Amino acid sequence: MRISIIGTGYVGIVQGACFADTGNTVICMDIDKKKIKNFKKGIIPIYEPGLEEVVKRNVKDGRLVFSTNLKFAVEKSQVIFLCLPTPQSEDGSADLTHVMKVSKGIAGYLNEAKIVVSKSTVPVGTVEKMRKIFENNGKYDVQVVSNPEFLKEGSALQDSLRPDRIIIGTSDEKTADAMRELYEPFVRTGNPVIVMDEKSAELTKYAANSFLATKITFMNDLANLCEKVGADIEWIRKGIGSDPRIGKNFLFAGIGYGGSCFPKDVKALIKTSANNAHPLRILHAVDRINEDQKKVLLVKLKKHFAGKLKGKTVAIWGIAFKPQTDDIREAPAMVILSSLLKEGVTVKAHDPVAMPHAKKVYGARVQFCKTAYAALNNADALIVVTEWNEFRKPDMLYMKSIMKSPVIFDGRNIYDPEEVRNAGFVYYGIGRKIK
Ligand code: NAD
Repeated sequence: MRISIIGTGYVGIVQGACFADTGNTVICMDIDKKKIKNFKKGIIPIYEPGLEEVVKRNVKDGRLVFSTNLKFAVEKSQVIFLCLPTPQSEDGSADLTHVMKVSKGIAGYLNEAKIVVSKSTVPVGTVEKMRKIFENNGKYDVQVVSNPEFLKEGSALQDSLRPDRIIIGTSDEKTADAMRELYEPFVRTGNPVIVMDEKSAELTKYAANSFLATKITFMNDLANLCEKVGADIEWIRKGIGSDPRIGKNFLFAGIGYGGSCFPKDVKALIKTSANNAHPLRILHAVDRINEDQKKVLLVKLKKHFAGKLKGKTVAIWGIAFKPQTDDIREAPAMVILSSLLKEGVTVKAHDPVAMPHAKKVYGARVQFCKTAYAALNNADALIVVTEWNEFRKPDMLYMKSIMKSPVIFDGRNIYDPEEVRNAGFVYYGIGRKIK
């Protein structure tokens, strides 16, 4: 098929590369000229394991091209995927400016019947609004489909090559068939392509992210209770996770969820529910608890230093909102870094891939260190914010020898408290039993 991807960000480039890799011809279009220039030069502006190879292979074979020209992208393609940002508006709702603007742009360039697919996460009713734009334009038949994306940054390529499921929201059988055909190479192991109405598809995406955010938040809140009653959240995680109704995933307590999706999607669903006279009270609680959770280590840090943080040096391991990505949007690290700087703390940070993004925000106010150990030199404490694998088994004796005082605040519970204490450190985790 001839495909266009409008918006070549985390979702767009991965999807574009995957569609090209299964033999389609793909135009990846973006308004960001610098981004497109880089792609053309073979520079991939995001960190995503395995992606560079697939992009380069398909560019070389002529199936994947990049452009800043919407007219060219529209005219050349049968199926147009919108992978545009839907950020949070001031009132919490999803900002549809980009989606609506591009839809109008597409309508102006139609030269034949097309399928326009929203991969952007959009509130219930957006496909209907988009359809009206194309109906008003009149000349050609445009089928608008909701096809929410479930890839996870850090494993986006694998998630797209082998998705758990594909959700197609359309009421048109012919369009459903075309979409099934497009996705067929990715579901050969039998994972389902679920065709449903547009509104259900739109809501499925919000339901999935909000459910996962709720699961994480439940464990985080329970971890805080564990600390009060002297229980250990790690035992509870194991104890409940072995029940298949609960499942083992997404039960790790930590310092809150972040990223470009969960926070905004939870807020957008709260807004949708309020607008429809059915406020989802559970999500209000999730959102509030998560905001507090990002600060729990700061409270512990302050308490440890008897309220005197000014003049201290704190090492931060991990800035990205999760491992295997350079994405720092809504990352708990940003709350921690900003608060420490406000308190007059010297911050030395290391992240394997996210430092260039963080540098753009903090500049010289944070000392960005080439290695994790370099961040520890003369530090009064270490805060582990992101659970990168390389932080899991460090040389504790060496760490102790270079830090000013041996204190670890483990925001992701990656260490065994006993082992860390035996190595001579003071250890703080999230919901761990203090002996
Ligand atoms: P992103 O910010 O990484 O990329 C969006 C791209 O769209 C940017 O490159 C931007 O320059 C481009 N753009 C903006 N306006 C444009 C226009 N008028 N014309 C052409 N390009 C334009 O966003 P993302 O993370 O890829 O997310 C895209 C959508 O997918 C969002 O709705 C998001 O909620 C959803 N989603 C994201 C993820 C994820 O993990 N990132 C996962 C599932 C769903």
